Amino acid sequence: MRRLPNTLAFRLTLSYAVAFLVSSFAAFCLLYVSVDTILNNRMNEDLTEDISEYSDLYLAEGMNRVVQELEREAESNDEEQMFLRLLTSKGQTIFSSNLTEWKELPISEEFLQKVPEVQGEYRIQTVVRPHHDSSARITSGLIAPGLIMHLGESLEEKDEIMNLLLLVFIGMFCVAIPLASGVGWAIARKAVKGIEEVSRAAVDIEKGQLDRRVTIKDQGDEVQMLVDTFNAMAERIRILITEMREMTDNIAHDLRSPLSRIRVISERALSVTEPDNEYRVAASDTLEQCDRLLHLINTTLDVAEAEAGVMSTDTEPINLSMLIEDARDLYEPAAEEKKIKLSCKLDPDCRVKGNRQMLQRMLANLLDNALKYTGPKGQVKIDLTRQPRGLCVMVADTGFGIQPADQPRVFDRFFRCDQSRSQDGCGLGLSFARAVACAHGGDITLASEPAQGSTFTIFLPPFSSTPH
Ligand code: ADP
Repeated sequence: MRRLPNTLAFRLTLSYAVAFLVSSFAAFCLLYVSVDTILNNRMNEDLTEDISEYSDLYLAEGMNRVVQELEREAESNDEEQMFLRLLTSKGQTIFSSNLTEWKELPISEEFLQKVPEVQGEYRIQTVVRPHHDSSARITSGLIAPGLIMHLGESLEEKDEIMNLLLLVFIGMFCVAIPLASGVGWAIARKAVKGIEEVSRAAVDIEKGQLDRRVTIKDQGDEVQMLVDTFNAMAERIRILITEMREMTDNIAHDLRSPLSRIRVISERALSVTEPDNEYRVAASDTLEQCDRLLHLINTTLDVAEAEAGVMSTDTEPINLSMLIEDARDLYEPAAEEKKIKLSCKLDPDCRVKGNRQMLQRMLANLLDNALKYTGPKGQVKIDLTRQPRGLCVMVADTGFGIQPADQPRVFDRFFRCDQSRSQDGCGLGLSFARAVACAHGGDITLASEPAQGSTFTIFLPPFSSTPH
């Protein structure tokens, strides 16, 4: 049973949610500080502009007009929110709005005294107002030489805006976090859907459903790559298992025939009345069948050995041209008997480094097949040439040919084409030939046309002995 916190979807969702939380918190902090700074600057500008306007008014229309304007301003504003004061530099009050609400204001004497000496310069101070929720901003400056103006304004309005911003953010957070987690969960589920489907398919295959594939699409390139690789692997496993089954069937079949024959021979020998002569025949038949069995088992072991590259230690420089000539001589009588024209065209003195016995058997298998699967009056040609890719041995015949569907499988162990079942053989010759070619660092290929003939081509790396 899977625990939710252990699932990839849960962990991805958690990561999305944390990332969202952190980034939106950072964004909010930035916004909060920016708005606070803008409002503070705006307020400072307003207060200093006011003092500057009074200064202009004093210059243009004199003190009385300034006092009038201050009275009007004091009346029109909430005295709890704002105060205005005009003093002489000796501290004599010319005008002051109602300061009842501002009495406890801890404005330092030093602040009141230290007014900038130049017109157009201002002193700004933010102070905490006892018994009030908000602080206040006090600005002072000269409206004319010897005339000091103090303007104070509560920060309540600004605090309200900042609190509103905070509330909006908290509200947005309360809605956005579950929403983002929901969306994250949906995205994570979609992302892991492909992976889950692949693991379900793997479980089904493990239970024996070899044809099970993953059909899921449009899940993103990474998942698609996983699905494609998984399907390719599943197909490979299916092919391998099918081939293994076929191979086991073939081995069983190849072992059964000689064993059944041995059994029949033995039964017959036991039931005859003239034992001596019949025993002799039975013994000879049994030997023949035992040899077939041994040949089959030995060749299987040879293929395995060649594929494992065990014989690589037992190598020597070999004149391949001469080796092929010897093989031709060996098969000449068989070809004549079948009325097949066996011809040879060999570049002289082509050398390889390899295992003589294995190379001989490889050539023998190819020649044996060519003669076996070619009818009378056919032709078998052996060519040996030097090519850029290496030494090239071609064994071509004008025989039955091989069906295109069978061509990729003829090098598999125990594979035999249907048309050859009547012939002698156990389906190991070509797999042995391929194993030997590969063990020598070469390769073997086939080109064949049914009813036209087949050409097996072996490439082997040339050997050149550099004199010391
Ligand atoms: P076998 O002992 O059956 O000849 P091989 O491994 O040598 O086994 O060959 C595998 C199968 O490939 C053969 O059974 C035959 O059907 C086919 N084959 C091999 N060589 C030839 C050829 N020259 N012409 C036609 N078919 C061939």
